[in-house]
Amino acid sequence: MEEKRAFREQVKRDFVPFAEKLHERRRVRLGLDHLHFEDEGVYFAGGNPKPVGDPAQILEAGRGMYNELSPETGKFMNFMCDNELFDVIGRKTKKTGGYMTYLPDYKSPFIFANFNGTSGDADVITHECGHAFQGWIAAQDPIREHADITMETAETHSMSMEFFTQPWMDRFFGDRAKDYSEMHFEDSCIFIPYGTMVDEFQDIIYDDPSLSPKARNQVWRDLERQYKPHLDYSGNEYYEDGCFWQRQHHIYDCPLYYIDYCIAQTNALQYKAWMDCDYRQAWESYLKLCRLSASDFFTSLLVQVGLNNPFEDGCLREVVKGLEAKI
Ligand SMILES: [Zn+2]
Repeated sequence: MEEKRAFREQVKRDFVPFAEKLHERRRVRLGLDHLHFEDEGVYFAGGNPKPVGDPAQILEAGRGMYNELSPETGKFMNFMCDNELFDVIGRKTKKTGGYMTYLPDYKSPFIFANFNGTSGDADVITHECGHAFQGWIAAQDPIREHADITMETAETHSMSMEFFTQPWMDRFFGDRAKDYSEMHFEDSCIFIPYGTMVDEFQDIIYDDPSLSPKARNQVWRDLERQYKPHLDYSGNEYYEDGCFWQRQHHIYDCPLYYIDYCIAQTNALQYKAWMDCDYRQAWESYLKLCRLSASDFFTSLLVQVGLNNPFEDGCLREVVKGLEAKI
């Protein structure tokens, strides 16, 4: 709990100002006088970038990309494609969602998704393949318990792979590759304040079951003012009253889990800053992290691969310094 509090302090003090700068940059790009809440998630006035090509071409682009990225990712992706370990094409009555799972008898990852023509299709090749790559690497470890990774570690693998694959985005987005990378970068950054806010909200409301529905909404709105000060809900009474949290199903479904994504995103951004200076060195660290899997505790894994501990003061300040140097 103390560690989480320390992380929140860093987010509010060191990261929110940076995220707000990115919102401002988005406002200018969109050519708006003012950002309104409907503009959240909109990055380009002409529409957010979409992948070019059909599902088969997207998978083929993924194969080419991973074969160029490293020998390990090449072997992994050939294994996935040759053994038809992707069920990603949508069909009537198919379950929604997307995930990677592991088939122990075959020492094999498996990816399920629903391609729908949005940038989410490319995310399957970057994010879900990040999980799958780590699952495939961990399969080479005879101690099965080492594969029992916790969520912040698992999401570090996937969210970091999203950044390691950015140099190949022209294969997926054609002449809008740069737009996609910009959108992905901003989206990744602005998630940290939002996710941390969801976590703080849960702590407050689950700590005090006596809060009235109205008081809970006030808590949310108050947190929004701290974490997302640019938000303007004017004209929408429901959100202005603090009801936006109703759309975040994790608050009901899996309380106190959301912070794992924020910790993982912090690690992914550490890798992003690192690869901007030295891609190969950052990749070697990432590969080591994948191999270490769950053989050690999270904070010790970080020490072994040369990442800063997100719970320690200064971690986010360093991240912002690294990222600001590049934008
Ligand atoms: Zn994931």
